[in-house]
Amino acid sequence: MVAPVRTRARARAGSAGGTAADLSELVHGLPALVWTAGSDGRVDFQNRHWAEYTGLPADADLGAGWEATIHPADRPSLLGRLNAAIEAGTACDTQARVRRFDGAFRWFQFRASPRVDRSGKIVKWFGIATDIDDIKRSGDAAAQSEQDLIDRIPASITIANANGENIYTSSWGVTRPSAPPSVLRGLGFVSQLHSDEQDWVNAEWLRSVRTGETMELEHRLKRADGTYRWLHVRVAPYRDDSGAIVRWYGLLSDVDDQRKVEEALRRSEQGFRLLVEMIPALVARWTPDGQLDYVNQRLLDYVNTPPIEAGVSASTDSFRRHRLRIASVHPEDWDTWLRKRLRSLETGEPLESTHRLRRADGTYRWIHERVDPMRDESGKITGWYAVGIDIHDSRVMEDALRAARHRLDVATQTAAIAELSASIAHEVNQPLTSVITNATMGLEMLDATPPDVKGARETARRTLRDGTRAAEVLLRLRALFTKKKDSCTELVDLNDAAREVVALSRGELQRTGAIVQTLFSYDLSPVRGDRVQFQQVILNLVRNAAQAMEGVHDRPRRLTIATERQDDNFVSLSVQDAGTGVAPESFEKIFEAFYTTKNSGMGIGLSVSRSIIEKHGGRLWAEANQGPGTTFLIALPAGPSAPGAG
Ligand code: ADP
Repeated sequence: MVAPVRTRARARAGSAGGTAADLSELVHGLPALVWTAGSDGRVDFQNRHWAEYTGLPADADLGAGWEATIHPADRPSLLGRLNAAIEAGTACDTQARVRRFDGAFRWFQFRASPRVDRSGKIVKWFGIATDIDDIKRSGDAAAQSEQDLIDRIPASITIANANGENIYTSSWGVTRPSAPPSVLRGLGFVSQLHSDEQDWVNAEWLRSVRTGETMELEHRLKRADGTYRWLHVRVAPYRDDSGAIVRWYGLLSDVDDQRKVEEALRRSEQGFRLLVEMIPALVARWTPDGQLDYVNQRLLDYVNTPPIEAGVSASTDSFRRHRLRIASVHPEDWDTWLRKRLRSLETGEPLESTHRLRRADGTYRWIHERVDPMRDESGKITGWYAVGIDIHDSRVMEDALRAARHRLDVATQTAAIAELSASIAHEVNQPLTSVITNATMGLEMLDATPPDVKGARETARRTLRDGTRAAEVLLRLRALFTKKKDSCTELVDLNDAAREVVALSRGELQRTGAIVQTLFSYDLSPVRGDRVQFQQVILNLVRNAAQAMEGVHDRPRRLTIATERQDDNFVSLSVQDAGTGVAPESFEKIFEAFYTTKNSGMGIGLSVSRSIIEKHGGRLWAEANQGPGTTFLIALPAGPSAPGAG
């Protein structure tokens, strides 16, 4: 409806000298509120559109009546501006809502300008009001949606004036400050900061405002729920063409969660670092190709040398070339250490090494080092982790102990020889004394007048007997300590053989504190076999028994050697101790060759003993006692009717 009118109007207006009727039609048809007023501002003309828009009769609101159609909220400002313009005689441009015929208010742009005569006096006012409602609403909506967007982003925008006073802070996406925006205006935001950072942030902000430099920092701000959250803040100046700061624009983003994660990470990292620094060990890490990339403080303090000549590869050739003695490995240990290290790097296998390292004070100390590779999921080595422990003191002590033990062994042997010599002297002395006595007596008898030839013959016979006894003792002793190739078979009295063993080992038994008891059977048949071998077996059982009781302190170290006639066919000999005993599962194992639980044991005593006894057609076994300790038993065929040993 409107458009054809306008087209027509323009066409006519374009032609020279449009009629008054044409012009009137144009004015009335304009899609705008058109009016004229007298010099006093009183409306004297309104176009038809007024009536059509407001729904009021055409002339009803002439004069001041039109004012009733203006929105009450906008009326004062519109009238004020119009009156001011009339008074000042200047044009006026403003906006106000006008009530439509259906009661709805729509925004209009009001423009009015005066017409003056030649003398400059206002004679008329011309006014027009155009409907801008749609534009204004879409503008407002856009502004609103912009605001919504700003409110929704997890950050806040803040604007300050050139003096640094906050003039605007957008709503907070995630961090709503507890104070209303009014409090945040000016420098009021400072009160919402965490007390730890208030002074600092305030000072930084004032400094930025003074110097015009961008401020960038992190601080905590109080939230509506009273908790503080960390914000990252960056406020930059905005300058006009002359370079003067007109505004400060700031972006505040919530970094609280991020900081917490970082903090936790830092703390766990610190914890691990502390652990590595505090453990009483020398710790180092190597890159996959063997370059040192970390040493703990303890290692640095230990060697007191710079960790490494930077960038020198610890692998292969350059390693050799530089002879890089990591913290000064002892020259004597260097080659072995290097060989091991290179092999590890080649094969990826852990390295274990005991070598000397020069300490800060210049002394070399023994270190036990272990280096393990760390691999990723695909098995690729990502680094080498080395731990070294100073074992110097214990190593030195061990060496001293070993030396002491060696000296003790020598002393024990010497003592054993001394004991043995004493035993031999004792054994031989007796017959020798009687030999001397008898020989002296014989001589006296022969020197007598008349000579006592019969007596002398008797003494000579006794001398012979004792001499033979002495020779026999020596022979047996020799036999006991020299390995005879061929064993001899004879009838042996086990009681005698055992008695001799006890006599020979008296010193050793005394030293171990064993209380020896013998329970010899008087009607024991002799056994056939090698006496010395039987004695070796008995000696071995007695020694084992004594040793088994060395650690016993809560009961007497009783060692009982007994012989017994089992029946007509067998005799037995038992060696019972009150020692630590044999584990139930080990009763057979102990007879195996080289089975030993002793540090210096050979583990062949019992196995040789058993083979000797079995060779003589007998048996050797062990039984647990009722109480503590073990009993070893030998059963041998009784002679002389019994079969001889092979
Ligand atoms: P060795 O004495 O050199 O160890 P043996 O063959 O004599 O060798 O003994 C083997 C092992 O049997 C001993 O190491 C010890 O563990 C155990 N054994 C031998 N006799 C006794 C005993 N009387 N009491 C406890 N254990 C014993």
